[in-house]
Amino acid sequence: EREEPTHFGAGPAQLPTEVLQQAAKDLINYNNLGLGIGEISHRSKDATKVIEDSKLHLKELMNIPDTHEVFFMQGGGTTGFSSLATNLAAAYVGKTGTIAPAGYLVTGSWSLKSYQEANRLHVPAEIIFNAKDYHGGKFGYIPKEEEWCDKVKGKKYSFVYLCENETVHGVEWPKLPQCLVDDNEIEIVADLSSDILSRQVDVSQYGVIMAGAQKNIGLAGLTVYIIKKSILKNIEKADETQLHEFGIPVTPIASDYPTVVKNNSAYNTIPIFTLHVMDLVFQHLIKKGGVASQEAENKTKAKILYEALDSYPDFYNMPVEKSCRSTMNVVFTLKKEGLDDKFLEEAGKRKLTGLKGHRSVGGFRASIYNALSLATIEKLVKFVKEFAEENQ
Ligand code: PMP
Repeated sequence: EREEPTHFGAGPAQLPTEVLQQAAKDLINYNNLGLGIGEISHRSKDATKVIEDSKLHLKELMNIPDTHEVFFMQGGGTTGFSSLATNLAAAYVGKTGTIAPAGYLVTGSWSLKSYQEANRLHVPAEIIFNAKDYHGGKFGYIPKEEEWCDKVKGKKYSFVYLCENETVHGVEWPKLPQCLVDDNEIEIVADLSSDILSRQVDVSQYGVIMAGAQKNIGLAGLTVYIIKKSILKNIEKADETQLHEFGIPVTPIASDYPTVVKNNSAYNTIPIFTLHVMDLVFQHLIKKGGVASQEAENKTKAKILYEALDSYPDFYNMPVEKSCRSTMNVVFTLKKEGLDDKFLEEAGKRKLTGLKGHRSVGGFRASIYNALSLATIEKLVKFVKEFAEENQ
């Protein structure tokens, strides 16, 4: 039992209380087995059903076509983008027998880190654009397609990577760039760690979707992957000797996508309790009306919060251009100095917690993931208005 939390942390984030109550029961005694769901073999009948159900429910929620496969792996966003770099480089070698650089669209710290990791791993990679260069040296803007699409045209990339929602900087792609969607040669690889199931997407447009679980869909410890089956085949085709010749690292076995898929996400020990929590979140969302209704609610939540902050332009500073403001992570700072601690303190008195901005950018960030209700956002809206009135 608990009072409904009003926690705006960026992740791990608040989850639906109902989900956690069920999970708590299942941790102790699952389906009357006399054992908890975390205490049984990851290859047992019950565990296999958890894997199957999670896949099924995610497919239903995201309308995932037969061209794509769903799997889960231990880890988070970072293991996600590391493994993407090597698996996708191998896929390109498997498909073409040659190498090409991956292209990274850098719109914030997570896409930048993904690029840096590809480099560190010796996966050929280049930055297609760094959004900082278009915005006075700071993240907070996504350049228009006219400004960068020419760089992609006619050029071969092993894949093009983007982070749909930059959790730290509060920058979100409003939709996938059309010039990439229209180019049938390009595999779009996207990090959806902080926006998966927050809005509807057309899965057929992606080569791979990767998402760490600990924001919209569950506890920390798991990563969801949705991958085009043709890419899986190409990874399998990649010859290890050839990868060595090209200097591309062979992927560690537990992160090798075809191996994981062939073993139904249980090649090694998948944390089945964590996956079960994720499935409970999926079921909860299906019951609530699915992604379309969640998207509508999320839009309203973001709208009222941005409107409240925008209505005090002399008090709140909004660093992100309106065209790419995140619906999940609302980033702002105070124009007056010396008030930051007071803001957090006063918010805390109203039980509005988790509002401190990322250590790299300062200020504040309200993460308003699926589990935060409109009523919770309304409390924050009331607070930001009153705080501005009282401290102007
Ligand atoms: N990508 C995004 C968009 C994220 O928000 C995060 C974490 N906040 C990561 C990757 C890294 O995730 P992890 O800490 O699970 O490695």
